[in-house]
Amino acid sequence: MRDAWSSHEAWVYECLCCSTIWDEQFDVRHIADGHGGEATVYKQDGQRCTTPWVDHVCPNCQSQNVKAFPAPRARRPEVPQARGGTDVALVFHLRHLHAW
Ligand SMILES: [Zn+2]
Repeated sequence: MRDAWSSHEAWVYECLCCSTIWDEQFDVRHIADGHGGEATVYKQDGQRCTTPWVDHVCPNCQSQNVKAFPAPRARRPEVPQARGGTDVALVFHLRHLHAW
């Protein structure tokens, strides 16, 4: 028996030649293979496409020297109570004041 589900991913691309940055949205179809593995199919506008991190061309200069990384989407409030974040903000603040 196969199990399948879909998710949505956003990827951000940066051209290493001209520094253009853009993002693309993907619909991701996950299909369990029944052996604990998972096949993943990426689609854009309903069309099957290559995985987000390969074969991308800069829309500005046509370079293939493009870096891809998953967009830092807000995940559900899995983020632990941001005590660390507060400390970091405080350190930046102190540095700014030359007190650190
Ligand atoms: Zn470029």
